[in-house]
Order: sequence, then C-alpha cells, then structure tokens
Amino acid sequence: MYAHQHSASWRLFGLSSLLGLLDPITGTRDKLLETLIAWSDINSGSGNIEGVEKIATLATGRFSELGYDVQRIETEPVAMIGPDGQEGTIQRGPILHFTARPNATRRIMLAGHLDTVFPVNDSFQKAVIRKDGTLHGPGTADMKGGLLVMAQALACFEQSGLADDIGIDVVLNSDEEVASYASSPYMEKVAAHCDAGFVFEPSMPDGSLAGARAGSGNYDVVVTGRAAHAGREFDKGRNAIAGAARVVGALNALNGQRDAVTLNIGLIAGGTALNVVPERAIVRLNVRARTPDDLAWVDSAIRETITSGDFGADITAQLHGRIHRPAKPMTPQLESLFETVRSAGGDLGVPVRWAATGGCCDGNNLARAGLPTVDTMGVRGAFIHSHDEYAVIDSFEERTRLTALSLLKLASGEAVWPKDIAS
Ligand SMILES: [Zn+2]
Repeated sequence: MYAHQHSASWRLFGLSSLLGLLDPITGTRDKLLETLIAWSDINSGSGNIEGVEKIATLATGRFSELGYDVQRIETEPVAMIGPDGQEGTIQRGPILHFTARPNATRRIMLAGHLDTVFPVNDSFQKAVIRKDGTLHGPGTADMKGGLLVMAQALACFEQSGLADDIGIDVVLNSDEEVASYASSPYMEKVAAHCDAGFVFEPSMPDGSLAGARAGSGNYDVVVTGRAAHAGREFDKGRNAIAGAARVVGALNALNGQRDAVTLNIGLIAGGTALNVVPERAIVRLNVRARTPDDLAWVDSAIRETITSGDFGADITAQLHGRIHRPAKPMTPQLESLFETVRSAGGDLGVPVRWAATGGCCDGNNLARAGLPTVDTMGVRGAFIHSHDEYAVIDSFEERTRLTALSLLKLASGEAVWPKDIAS
C-alpha cells in the first residue's frame, strides 16, 4: 500500500520539480536581514511584557500575510518563589497560534518563541552587521532569525500547490527562555494533534542539529531560621545562611552518584544586614539528565535530601520546583523525520548532521506530547544567551530552503510521515 503511494507521488513530484518549487526563496535574504535587524532592536526579554507584545504584533502581521487564522491566547500567571522566599505569581506574555486548514487530518506544527534572555536594562540591545558575514545582536540566532525563516519557508510552501491537504499549526510562545511554564500545556495540546514538528532554535555554525536532548528541572529551596541582633541576642538567632550552606553541601553531594546526572547550584541569596542573624536564604538549582529514569531518580533524590536532611537546630528547608523539560530521546519516528531533513539537505547540497546535547527547549515538551520534532531548524549561529550572539547571514536562504523542502517532501508523499513508522 505504502510502496504504491510512494512510487505514484514520486512520479508526480520528482526531485527536480520539488526543487523548482523553492524558486520564490531566492532573493529573500536582504528583506529577511532588514526585518531581523528591526526585530532584534526591540528588546523582548521574557520579563519585558511590553517588548514581547511588540514582537507579538510584528509576528502576527508577518504570519497573517500567509493568510493564516490568528488566535491569541492569554497565559495564566505562573507560581514563583520571589527573592524574599515568598510564593508569588508572575505574568508572562501571550501565545500566538496561526492555523491553516483546520480540518486537514495531516498536520505539521511549527513552533518558536518571541522572548529572549536579555532583560530590558541589558546593555546588549542592537543588531550590527559585521564584515565576516554575521549579524551580531540579541535574539538574532535565538530565535528571531528562526521565526523569520519559518515564515518565509511557509510562504514558499503555501505557493507550492502541495499545501492543500496539509494542516499547519504555528505556535509562538513568550516564555521559552524561562522554562515555558505558562505555555507548555497549550503547546503540548496542539502537538498531540500533529504529525510532524519543527522548532526554529538555531543550528550550530556548521549547520549541525541537536538530536536527542537531556531533560531538565529547576528547584528552589527556601531556608528559614530566626532573626536576631548579631550583638545583643546572637544566641537567639538561627542562621538561615548557615542552613543554606548545609543544603548546598547535601544537594551538591548528589553529583557523581549517577552517570550523566548533574545538579548545578546556580544561585544563593539571603540575609539583610551584617548585624542581623539572617532569617531567610534561598538556594536555586538546575538539574539535567538524559533519560526518564535518571530524571525520576534525581527528582526523588532532591526531595529525599530536603525532607530528611538536618540543616541545623530550628532551621527548616522547604522545596519548590519540578522537572519541567522531559528528556527527548532519539526514537525511530524522530530518526525518520531527521532522515527527511537530511534528504532535503542532500538535494540542496547542505550536509545535515545531528548530535545529542545537554541543552533543552520546547522540542522536549512537544516530544512528551508524542510529536516527532526536529527542533533546530532556525538560522546557523552561535554564542546564544551571551553578548556575542550572532546569526550567519548566508544561512537565511539556506535554512529557509531546508525547511520548505522538508515540508514539501512530507506533503508530496516523497518522505514518510514519521508517525507512520512503528514507535
Ligand atoms: Zn531559543
């Protein structure tokens, strides 16, 4: 059955005719570059809702040009532990969902994020073209460049004549750089109804993609002692910073207990003045592990360490947090989608390789929803999350073609739909 369909569609849409459908991409580089500079110059740090809204408006304009239906979803406030150790909530920006052909049974999800890691008061705020052919600036690679590549590839796909039976779900969130707490339930709901997923995180400068991804969790430990004057009533005080130091020691000792499981104590804070025994201190940490078993192990090891630990007389430690990015393993279905991208790259003369990484992104969450997802379809670039971030300008059309041809291969039947592979 499948072999028959394959040969029929191959006759209809052979290699040369699919490549011919990519012609509209030629010459789009300069416009994309100009738009990317404008988008990079608008700060959209996850906490800068006003800036995120500006990018949301621009993205809505760009994807509306494709004729897609636009939905804007307001996110619920998410729980967080403030610098004072108190539980509070924080509001994140919206989710944008652009849809084409809502009744199509074969659906492709393309996802990205509007936010960056750079706060509104960061000194890194402007994009600059450099002589070496790179665009240096905040979000150029991660991932405003990727959003524009996605839009351009979809513009080509929509003109191809092959899109009629394929549903498209573009979902853009505003909190990817702060763990997607507010957006992941919605994104996973959309992902569950789709057949192939692409996320537009940057590829490496040499074009390599991220394959299997580690999972990740964030935890906060609030340590509470008792305040007292350091001179008059020192003995009545219970030093929360000393307690936090014991918490750090106990948690850090979990490193090395299990292969490829790491805990990074990333932040500690506490105390008010040098003449006050500190009442409160906070320890924040991030964990990484490669398999669901390892993630479950480290989660329960942290819980056990905090609930059963002794951190000093009259000192309590309260744990918050969880695994928020499940591990994303390489599966036969995912491998099949990677092979589709590799074959598109082969037709284009663009070598496509992938390697496992300790990093994670929304691709992890889409995978949890059962969606085979290649999540580094964005521009080539490097030094993301730093002031050296750049995107390679010559990769704009190259990566647009790679995405467009991958979509066309799926739509034409030349490539296998990954969910048709036994899982
Ligand atoms: Zn990103």
